[in-house]
Amino acid sequence: EVRVRFAPSPTGALHIGGVRTALYNYLFAKKTGGKFLLRIEDTDQNRYVPGAEEYIKNSLEWIGIEPDESPWNPGEVGPYRQSERKAMYMEYAQYLLDQGHAYYAFDTSDELDEMRKRLTAARVVSPQYNSITRTQMKNSLTLPADEVKARLDSGDPYVIRIKIPRKEEVRLNDMVRGWVMVHSNSLDDKVLMKSDGMPTYHLANIVDDHLMGITHVIRGEEWLPSAPLHVLLYKFLGWEDSMPQFAHLPLLLKPDGNGKLSKRDADKHGFPIFPLNWTSPENGELVDGFKEAGYLPDAFLNFLAFLGWNPGDQREIFNIDELIEAFSIERIGKSGTKFDINKAKWYNEQYLKNKSNTELSAYLLSDLDKENVSISTEKAEKIVSLMKERATFPGDLWKEGRFMVFAPKTFDQQIVDKKWNENVVIVLTAFEEKLNKITTALTADMARTMLGDTAEEKEIKLGKIMQAVRLAITGVGAGPDLMQIFEILGREELIERINFALK
Ligand code: GLU
Repeated sequence: EVRVRFAPSPTGALHIGGVRTALYNYLFAKKTGGKFLLRIEDTDQNRYVPGAEEYIKNSLEWIGIEPDESPWNPGEVGPYRQSERKAMYMEYAQYLLDQGHAYYAFDTSDELDEMRKRLTAARVVSPQYNSITRTQMKNSLTLPADEVKARLDSGDPYVIRIKIPRKEEVRLNDMVRGWVMVHSNSLDDKVLMKSDGMPTYHLANIVDDHLMGITHVIRGEEWLPSAPLHVLLYKFLGWEDSMPQFAHLPLLLKPDGNGKLSKRDADKHGFPIFPLNWTSPENGELVDGFKEAGYLPDAFLNFLAFLGWNPGDQREIFNIDELIEAFSIERIGKSGTKFDINKAKWYNEQYLKNKSNTELSAYLLSDLDKENVSISTEKAEKIVSLMKERATFPGDLWKEGRFMVFAPKTFDQQIVDKKWNENVVIVLTAFEEKLNKITTALTADMARTMLGDTAEEKEIKLGKIMQAVRLAITGVGAGPDLMQIFEILGREELIERINFALK
């Protein structure tokens, strides 16, 4: 059985890249009839941010992807928070020590700084604690055994590091990237256990993936450099045979394709890259969310799915079930995906258009409510049915449709200057007279015929004055079908507006 996990660290707001990772894991699990787990990786207590866990939970809830197992819905392999699994990790670190694949290191941070300086001075590009430097450092490989013991007994602070073998080729077959090969000399003797007794990400991640029966690790490309280390850990822990398959997802790039997408890009261009609004409890900084910006969860989900994956044909609109059906890891791209907010807007427009008028009228009515205006549900539905073709966000329905409720008090001056003339006045005056005479409710068809007849009688080309007529009724020069607007406004309102415009 396929078991995948989303393993975020609660260090702040979940970035859109994280939500995408969650979605791909979810899609893969559902596609294969497997399980989707959520594990909170909170071993780094310095970086723990209160509220971040809730943010992760709420973000996934918003787009409707529910983990089969999580801290809030635990299965049989819990706990699902690493901080609550603390006691489990030392056993494995001890095993690695016993096997000679790990060692104690007593270096102080001053000594480590010293090492980095020395290596930098010697023009080493990325100074690290590796097979060469470790011979000069304070660790259980260089100190006499009795000194090591004495230090441990006296409670000297230490970390446990992995002993990366020299001159070995580490290989892994990534489901997205194919074979990845790394020479072990370029790998760091990474810390596995910290001096506070907490495991690092690397150890905890491998132990948990193993104990939780994870079959596939689908995660962001930024973890690819760590993957060879993980492969070694699986091997040293004797879990090579059940090692999960890896799939590293392509980076999300800036809109211009130059480098990784960042919060700064979002701020600069004024678009969201986080699912929900979030105020950092550390510095009060606010990030904007797609949700609050007016994106619909199903549109956002569809947009998200296409950030690095495509179905291999021209189709673009997929609901969640269709995504599950179409999804495959093989169709995830290798190269980075440019983030394009216009695509997100386009998706929103498509989904908005397809919502029922009943659903959309709720948005309109709640916006009206905020201004203490009330109209009938029937009228609200008519307005949204007319406005939704031109709206990107639900909020546009009211923003762009205000004139449907409030008669214009001012008129777009540019269009007045260009289009208002004697002919407009003649037609509107005669049209109003006709309106005064009708006794039934005005329909769009009636209005069209009446207006057409009026223009013909006065021998004025309707096309030439149409924009001015619109201006008289709505205050602006463009909008949805004018005859539909007439119908919704109704005879009396229309007469009032014509009178006002003619004054
Ligand atoms: N905790 C890691 C993160 O925050 C998880 C990486 C992984 O999936 O292995 O992204």
